Amino acid sequence: MKVIYPGSFDPVTFGHLDIIERCSKKFGHVIVAVLNNSSKKGTFSIEERMELLRETTKHLGNIEIDAFSGLLAEYVEKRDCNILIRGLRAVSDFEYEMQMALVNRKLNKDVETLFMVSKGEHVYLSSSIVREIAAYGGNVSCFVPKPVERALRDKFKGGI
Ligand code: ADP
Repeated sequence: MKVIYPGSFDPVTFGHLDIIERCSKKFGHVIVAVLNNSSKKGTFSIEERMELLRETTKHLGNIEIDAFSGLLAEYVEKRDCNILIRGLRAVSDFEYEMQMALVNRKLNKDVETLFMVSKGEHVYLSSSIVREIAAYGGNVSCFVPKPVERALRDKFKGGI
């Protein structure tokens, strides 16, 4: 079975990687799809995010890194794959995720969203927290893999 794991991944964290690794074991092919949101510039470019994802998932054989813009419901059709994976960290994620899942199904009735519950130790972890710590020169080594740590250091070396 083929699944799509969509998100911003700005940048990829151990929380995302845990979900990707678990998907890699359960599904035949996993498309990690980076959302190219033209109204939100982000810290890393889409190409940088994709490169970091490629580098940190290269030990897994069935992962494809892609990018998409526009509606997820349309991307799903283009890729001929209608199963979406989303990670759930806490109850606070639930309302937004529920809304997105229902909207996507409304736009494309064949779309199914599957939720994977975060590992306990990653419940508090988000790309935005990691960016904030890195921007102030903090140590992010327990939140992100080495290539991401290096990329964050480069990105913020002149301060914010
Ligand atoms: P968004 O798409 O809201 O910008 P992200 O790109 O950061 O969020 O995350 C993509 C997906 O990964 C979402 O389903 C999000 O809930 C999930 N995710 C993010 N961080 C974690 C984590 N620490 N543990 C589990 N899932 C996570």
